[in-house]
Amino acid sequence: MKPLISIYKLTKYVKKDKVLFLNYFNKTKLLNNVSFNIYEKEMIGLVGESGSGKSILGNILVNLSSADSGKIYYKNKEFLEYNQRELKKKLQIVFQDPKTVLNLKMTVYQIISEPIVSHKLYKQKAEILDNVKKLMKEVSLKEKYLYKLAEDLNLINLKKLMFARALSLNPEFIVIDELLSQQDSIQLNFTIQLIRKVKKKRNISILLISSNLKLILKLVDRLAVFYKGNLIEIIPKSRFSEMGLHPYTELLFNKTDKDIDDIENYLQLFKVKRKPVENRCVFLDRCTFVQDICYQKKPKFKELEEEHFVSCLLYEDKKEEL
Ligand code: SF4
Repeated sequence: MKPLISIYKLTKYVKKDKVLFLNYFNKTKLLNNVSFNIYEKEMIGLVGESGSGKSILGNILVNLSSADSGKIYYKNKEFLEYNQRELKKKLQIVFQDPKTVLNLKMTVYQIISEPIVSHKLYKQKAEILDNVKKLMKEVSLKEKYLYKLAEDLNLINLKKLMFARALSLNPEFIVIDELLSQQDSIQLNFTIQLIRKVKKKRNISILLISSNLKLILKLVDRLAVFYKGNLIEIIPKSRFSEMGLHPYTELLFNKTDKDIDDIENYLQLFKVKRKPVENRCVFLDRCTFVQDICYQKKPKFKELEEEHFVSCLLYEDKKEEL
């Protein structure tokens, strides 16, 4: 498998309080030393509780935000070496809430054609119109909405519209951020079908971010698990049935009927009375498998078998570090 995007030791800080400048005492890590590959044509899932850093990573990967340290490579060339406008064409994102990102006073035609015109993908009006119609068909958005204002569309059609716009520049990588959340079963079914359809037709790489583990497992080729800004496990599809190795992943797999944020509340109930320890395992304060060694050193993110990585000292003696 060829990496499309390689993420290397990515770290991002956020201010703790409303302070003007970041220094050691007033910043907290949103992403901590995150490294992994996203392969060509794969759909990789990213799960974790709210605030675990999933969405900020998604934004950084489509060049909407930047990391404080670390590197990202697209087709073996660092992001910074590209013409940024050209790079943005190849990397797109579909957000959870279309109402907060689309200009609802624009028509469907304007919203889909805007990036096409801006990037001069087509110049003739007839070509642009033809392309907009094709994109609408691809996402099952009826042509009768072409000149309707976005504000007149229902939520499901707005989501289709967001997809059509994201696909308009023929990206090679799309981040789909929490699109599986807060939907009734009809909307959810539709969204799943749409993601499958786009994946099948375009055969592009997709990072699917969600806190709904049960649904994500139906769609993705690999699963990356985040905990407090740390990547703690990557599991290949062939191992999904074995429920992961990291104690946190195991807990998630045991509760796939629940949203991850519900699992967080569940965890609070059984919270082990232990303080987090600086520069040790990020899950130490909650882990029920903790050993003496967990107080002595920090686990590394290691590949135990092909494409199966874990960060836990229970597996420390096994194989290579990423
Ligand atoms: S390293 Fe130790 S504390 Fe961390 S998850 Fe593994 S067993 Fe638990």
